[in-house]
Amino acid sequence: MRSIIDLFKQVNEKVTFKNHEGRFKVPSGYDSWLDYWEQQKGREALKCSNLGCGKSPKVLVGGHVDVYGESGIFLTPLCKECNLHTNKNWMQTFRINLLRVPEELLIPTEY
Ligand SMILES: [Zn+2]
Repeated sequence: MRSIIDLFKQVNEKVTFKNHEGRFKVPSGYDSWLDYWEQQKGREALKCSNLGCGKSPKVLVGGHVDVYGESGIFLTPLCKECNLHTNKNWMQTFRINLLRVPEELLIPTEY
């Protein structure tokens, strides 16, 4: 069971991340990676996770990101601008906005 203290840490802990290069097949049973994030988190994505952006666009995407100093690939809601593959900047967000994607769901795709 997740303790209140752990949840509190996640809300307050800032993490540094950047876009992960490459695309992955949307897991079956989900409309999109954003849908996957929302269903796993049990909440709606309302704004871009990049603290330097924070836009609340109508269209958010589930962006695959690398987290500084951590292995694995994570998912977080991003606006289309922040998710652009040409955006190679490090960004920051709160830990609670990240979802680690299980390795078996990381199936590369071209589209
Ligand atoms: Zn953004």
